[in-house]
Amino acid sequence: MSKKLTSRSEDYSKWYNELVVKADLAENSAVRGCMVIKPYGFAIWEKMQAELDKMFKETGHQNAYFPLFVPKSLFEAEEKNAEGFAKECAIVTHYRLQNDPDKKGKLRVDPEAKLEEELIVRPTSEAIIWNTYRGWIQSYRDLPLLINQWANVVRWEMRTRLFLRTAEFLWQEGHTAHATKQEALAEAELMNNVYATFAEKFMAIPVIQGLKTESERFAGADETYCIEALMQDGKALQAGTSHFLGQNFAKAFDVKFANKEGKQDYVWATSWGVSTRLMGALIMTHSDDHGLVLPPSLAPNQVVIVPIYKSEDDLNAITEVANGILRNLREKHITVKFDSRTTHRPGAKFAQHELQGVPLRIAIGARDLANGTVEIARRDTLTKKVVALEDLTEKIEGLLEEIQASLFNKALDFRDNHITEVDTFDEFKKVLETKTGFISAHWDGTNETEDKIKALTKATIRCIPLEGDVKEGVCVYTGNPSKRRVLFAKAY
Ligand code: AMP
Repeated sequence: MSKKLTSRSEDYSKWYNELVVKADLAENSAVRGCMVIKPYGFAIWEKMQAELDKMFKETGHQNAYFPLFVPKSLFEAEEKNAEGFAKECAIVTHYRLQNDPDKKGKLRVDPEAKLEEELIVRPTSEAIIWNTYRGWIQSYRDLPLLINQWANVVRWEMRTRLFLRTAEFLWQEGHTAHATKQEALAEAELMNNVYATFAEKFMAIPVIQGLKTESERFAGADETYCIEALMQDGKALQAGTSHFLGQNFAKAFDVKFANKEGKQDYVWATSWGVSTRLMGALIMTHSDDHGLVLPPSLAPNQVVIVPIYKSEDDLNAITEVANGILRNLREKHITVKFDSRTTHRPGAKFAQHELQGVPLRIAIGARDLANGTVEIARRDTLTKKVVALEDLTEKIEGLLEEIQASLFNKALDFRDNHITEVDTFDEFKKVLETKTGFISAHWDGTNETEDKIKALTKATIRCIPLEGDVKEGVCVYTGNPSKRRVLFAKAY
């Protein structure tokens, strides 16, 4: 086992990068800003996908797939969207290579193979999807159209971090079409709620639901809903977004429908997405200086069994007991692995499962065989206890539930202890120097003030919370009237 992780207090960012690599979740690749997601990391992502996909389908959505490329003329059609993403686009200009006449063994772009129209590698798919919807929507009977796509997108990010911000990332993007504004707004809110429920119930991450300010809004949206989480270093992370797109894309792509009265009207739209960034949120919220800590709901293995033996006879006897445990736990839909590798010593296995955040570890040794017991170790609290075999299934079921709840509560306590109300700009700056976290403060509602505060402190408005204190006050920076407090933070 390689040397210990850098601690969080020593260097949080280094701790995160080391953890992602050492826990075998992902690594940097030969392509700048693009990562390789390794099997263990991908197994966690697949669990997230499966739960989210179920939730999307339960709310009436269907999956479909649209092209990776967007012809430039379509990309340009919704001007604000195009302008917002223009600076981070990858563009395909040619479709063929040829041998380089000047350098043997090298290839070059074939100048004859220039595309007539350049293709944008999708940074988001509204353009290609709304161009398609024009052919799918004629009347109110075709609405609502509730579609989701699981895909990869490319945004040419300059400063990248594994999972949190990569140039290519995996995500889902929902794109829905509605007959009325109210319906589209309700859909955007519903999907933001779905994200919040997923984050809290499965990821054990408490989130604040809110609206983005105009400057942080998705390019092309009339309103952006979001879920914001707080990481252990006191920085905020935008964990998901859900956009009310008004009729902007319908107008740009001429998507009209005949309403019940037979009158033509533009269609109302939403789009919503979460990405592999959620992996970063999961890691940063729960993990500790020993490695990853996973909520049981998303752990590829909820339980691992490690045999401790000297002789082959011992191993055989332990294997028999382990097989019984596997059967019982699997019957209860608990994912469990018997780590019977003979290439690794128990100490190395313990270290690996600790680093990889397996919620519960069962160790079985010769003494346990004689006593009819096993030893259970909890990853989150690092505590151990000896349990009688006959009580094991029930104990494990209870412990998994307890761990899931306790991780959420711990993160909630931390989050709630890191929301500070301030009424002066001096207090505002002091919080950023000492405690960090969310700052709840009055803001006068203008872009200028938001920009100034950002320039002076690096803190941005994370959201205008949907719930909470709506009392009027005066802006911390300008002293001008404010309708309500908003949440500021330094963010990933
Ligand atoms: P957006 O389309 O900008 O609203 O983003 C949709 C989701 O993708 C949000 O949850 C973002 O936090 C996430 N996201 C945006 N950019 C990146 C990136 N470079 N890497 C990973 N996730 C991202």
